[in-house]
Amino acid sequence: MLLGAKLRRMLWRVRRFLQSVWTLGVMLGAGYAIGIDFFPDLRQSQPGLGPVLVACMLATLLLGKLLARLRTFETGSLAGLPPHAEDARTLKSDLELGAALLVATYVTLESTGGLRSPIQPLVYLTVAFVVTFHRTVVGLALVLFAAALEIALHHGFLIHHGEGVSAEATRLLVSHLLFIGFAALAHFVFLQSEILRQRREHRAAIQREIRNLREEARDFRLISSSLAADPSVRSRAVDEERLAIGAVETIHETLFYTLELLKKSLSLHTCVLLWLDDSGELLKIKELVTDSDCVTNVPLPADAGALGTVVKNRLLVNLRDPKRSHLPYYSGPDQDLIGAFLGVPVMEDGHLRGVVCADRAPDQNGALRPFNETDEALLLGAARQMLRSIQSERVFAAVERAKYEHERFFTALSRLNRALTPEDVCAMTFEAAREIVDFDLGAITLFDKATRRHTVVSTVGDTPRGLTDLSFGENAGIISMVVKNKHFLPAGGEIRDKDSPVFTKKIKLQGMESLLVLPLICADEAIGSFAVASRRMRSFPKDKRDMLTVIANHVAVSVMNAQMYGRMQEMATTDGLTGLHNHRTFQEKLVDMLARADRTGGKQALILTDIDHFKKVNDTHGHPVGDQVLRGVADVVKSCVRKVDIAARYGGEEFAIVLEGTDLAGARMLAERIRAEVQKQVFTSTHGQFEVTLSLGIAVYPDDASKETGGGKALIADADQALYHAKHHGRNRACAFVDIEPSRKLKAL
Ligand code: GH3
Ligand code: MG
Ligand code: MG
Repeated sequence: MLLGAKLRRMLWRVRRFLQSVWTLGVMLGAGYAIGIDFFPDLRQSQPGLGPVLVACMLATLLLGKLLARLRTFETGSLAGLPPHAEDARTLKSDLELGAALLVATYVTLESTGGLRSPIQPLVYLTVAFVVTFHRTVVGLALVLFAAALEIALHHGFLIHHGEGVSAEATRLLVSHLLFIGFAALAHFVFLQSEILRQRREHRAAIQREIRNLREEARDFRLISSSLAADPSVRSRAVDEERLAIGAVETIHETLFYTLELLKKSLSLHTCVLLWLDDSGELLKIKELVTDSDCVTNVPLPADAGALGTVVKNRLLVNLRDPKRSHLPYYSGPDQDLIGAFLGVPVMEDGHLRGVVCADRAPDQNGALRPFNETDEALLLGAARQMLRSIQSERVFAAVERAKYEHERFFTALSRLNRALTPEDVCAMTFEAAREIVDFDLGAITLFDKATRRHTVVSTVGDTPRGLTDLSFGENAGIISMVVKNKHFLPAGGEIRDKDSPVFTKKIKLQGMESLLVLPLICADEAIGSFAVASRRMRSFPKDKRDMLTVIANHVAVSVMNAQMYGRMQEMATTDGLTGLHNHRTFQEKLVDMLARADRTGGKQALILTDIDHFKKVNDTHGHPVGDQVLRGVADVVKSCVRKVDIAARYGGEEFAIVLEGTDLAGARMLAERIRAEVQKQVFTSTHGQFEVTLSLGIAVYPDDASKETGGGKALIADADQALYHAKHHGRNRACAFVDIEPSRKLKAL
C-alpha cells in the first residue's frame, strides 16, 4: 500500500518535472538542430522524416502554448493565485511562448535558405512583437535568445555550405544581430513613449472628470464652494463674506429666472422685483427683466405711484391705463406705452419685504390685454416662490455657517487642550473664542481659595486702564458673583446697568453693549472666570454662549493642568526646605552660565558656603531647629543675590551661589555681606537664643578654572578648596582660591 503510494507520488513528480522542462527541452533541441543544419534547405532537397517530425512537434508546441495562453485570458484562471505565484506563472508562460515563436521563425528561416533566407525580416517582426507585447525583462531575455538562435543559424549555415568562417557570412551575421538589436530598441522606445503618453492622457482625463464632478456638486450644493479651502488659513469674516456672496448669487439667479418666466408667460413689457430697505422708506430694484431702456436705477420712495398703494395696503393693485405717475420705475417715454399694471406685495411673517410689478404694452395691432384673475394668481404665486427661494438660501447659509463654526470650534478646542503653560492656555482660549464670536475685550481671572482674591491673569482687546494684573477681593462685581454662584452673568448677555461693576467699581468698560462672564468650573469648583465684552448689541446669543461655555469648561481643566504642570516643574527644580534651586538645577544652570562667559569673555564667580559647627546646632537644639536655621541662612542668601545670579542648596547645610558677570572683588564683597548678615541673625529654641556663622569659599571663572582646565567641575573644586581654607583659618570668614598659598593648592583634576 505504502509502496504504491510512494510510487504514485514519484511518478507524479516525474510527470510534473517533465511537464515543466519539456518545452525548454524542445527549444534547446530545436536550437541545437538549427545549429547543426538539421533542417534542410527547401530549395535544394526534399526534407527527410526527422526534420518534418521536429517541425510538427514545434508547431504543436506553439499551438498548445498559444491556446493555453488564450485560456488563461478567458477564464482568468490565475486570479486565485497569490500575486507572486501569478507573476511567476505568467513570466514563465510569456517566456515559453515568445521562445517558441522565435524557434519557429528560425526553423522556417533555416528551411528557406539560412542566413540568406528571403524571409529574414520575419525575425525582426517577431522580435518587435515580443518586445512590444511583453514586460521589459521578458522582452530582453527573448531578444538575447533571438541573438543566440541567430548565431546558431550562422553556424548551421557554415556547415551547410561546407565553409570555414567567411568574412561575408560574419558580416551578414553581424548585420542581422544589429538589426535584431535595432528592432528591439526601436519598439521598446516606441512602447515606453506610448505608455507615457497614454498615462498622461489618462491622468488629465481623470482630473477633468474630478473637476466636473466638483462643479456639479457645488451647483447642486452638495458641497460648499466657499468652504472648500483649508480652514486653518481662513478668517471668519472672509468666510462669512464668501458664504453670503455664494447665497446672493444663487438668489439672483433664481429671481431672474422666475421674472423671465413671468415676462414670457404673461407677455409683459417689464417684470421687476423691488425690495424695501431697512428704513422702510425706499424701494430698490433687486431683479429686473424688461424690453425697455428707461427703467430707472435709483431707489424709489416707498410711497410713490401704484407701488405706494401696494406698500400702504399690502394688497394687490391691478390698473388699466396707468398714469405716468403710477409707474415711478420708468424714467423715460416708455411710461406712455404701458396699458396695464399689476403689483403684488411680497410678505414674510406679516412683514412687507418688497413688491413684484408687472406691466404690459399693447401688441403690434394696438390691442391691449388687461391683467385678469389668472394673471393675478400667477404673480402672487411667483412672489411667494421668490420669497421661499430667499428663505431656503438663508437656511442653507445658516447650515453652512453652523457646520463651519463647529469645524473651527473643534480645531480651537483641540489646540486649547494641548496648551501646557498658563500663558498658552489663555492665548488659546481667546483664539478659540474668536472662532465663535467677535468681541472687543476678553479677560480671564483666577480665584485663589486661600486668600479669597481674584486676579486678572490675561486680557486681550481694548483693555481698560488698571485691568492688567488687577487683584481684587470678593465684592459685588459680576466676576465675583459668577465665581461664587458658578453661573454665567448677565442673564441676557446685555449690559443693562452700565454702572454695575464687572471687575471692581473703578474699572469702567467704556462703550461696551454686550457682556458675558462665564465661570471656569473644574471638579465642581469655580476656579475663575472668562469674560468677553463687545461694543455691539446682542453679540452673545444663546447658541454662542453654549459654545463659549464648552470652551470655559475646557479652559478650567487646561488651567488646572497647566498649574499642575508648573508645580511639578517647580518640584523637580527647587529644594523643598529652602525654596532655592536644587543641586541638579544648579549644575545645569552653571553649565549655561560658564558657556555664556566663554562666549562673551566675561567672568562668573562661584561662592560655596558651609555653616560652621552645624552638627552642634542639631545636637544642641534638635533637627527641626537645625532646619529653621537652614531656612534662615537660605533667606539671607536669597536676599543678597540678584535675579541674574543663581542661589542653590548644594547639599546638607551647604549653599552655592553663582554671580553673573562678577569678578573676584565683587564676589568678595557679596560673600562678606552674606557672612555678616548670617552672623546678625538670632535663632531661638527651647535652649534659648543662639547665632550661627558661615564659612565661604570663592573661585572665579575663567581666572581660577577655565574651559581648558576642567570647566565647572574644576571651578567647584577650587571654591571647595577655598572653603576648606576658610574653615582652617578660623571659620566665619570668606576666602578666595587665590588666597591659598600656591604650594598648598591641590591640583583639582
Ligand atoms: P564644620 O564647621 O566643619 O562645617 O562643622 P559641621 O558640624 O557643620 O560639619 P559638617 O558641615 O560636616 O556638618 C554637616 C551636618 O549638617 C551634618 C548633618 O547633621 C547636618 N545636616 C545636613 N543636612 C541637614 C538638614 O537638612 N537639616 C538639618 N537639621 N541638618 C542637616
Ligand atoms: Mg558641611
Ligand atoms: Mg558645616
